[in-house]
Amino acid sequence: MKIMVSACLLGVSCRYDGGDNAVSQLAVIGQEAELIPVCPEIYGGLPTPREPSERSGDRVVSKSGRDVSEQFAKGAREAVRLAKMLGCEAAILKERSPSCGTHQIYDGTFSGVRIPGSGVTAEWLRREGLQLFDEDELAACLKWIREKKEETGC
Ligand code: SF4
Repeated sequence: MKIMVSACLLGVSCRYDGGDNAVSQLAVIGQEAELIPVCPEIYGGLPTPREPSERSGDRVVSKSGRDVSEQFAKGAREAVRLAKMLGCEAAILKERSPSCGTHQIYDGTFSGVRIPGSGVTAEWLRREGLQLFDEDELAACLKWIREKKEETGC
């Protein structure tokens, strides 16, 4: 089974400020499934480091006001293309990111206010039928993987 993962959660320094969001417990998931790292913002053509961005209605806007909706859409398109080509059934994504957030994002005012919602890539992957988990849902993800394996007998 293949699981797409936000690359920053695997320790890749692709976060907007050049850092990462490494979660060492992901190694446990890696023993049960093949992990496919993706960073939609890099795939969309944005550099690292880069300005932070937030979703604002239908658009994605950087802190200085640059509209980066096209880059975010391109990144989502590439992630969906890879997920389909490789047969990823689920994704573990960085919560609150304007690309990867699965349950929560920031509200577009750059003031740290969180709202229910998804990042652009999370939204597109969900639409393709992938099961989404955030980095705090690894136990649920593990359970899901084991149940799936039991169901399919592999
Ligand atoms: Fe991590 Fe996703 Fe942001 Fe890339 S776009 S740095 S993978 S949260």
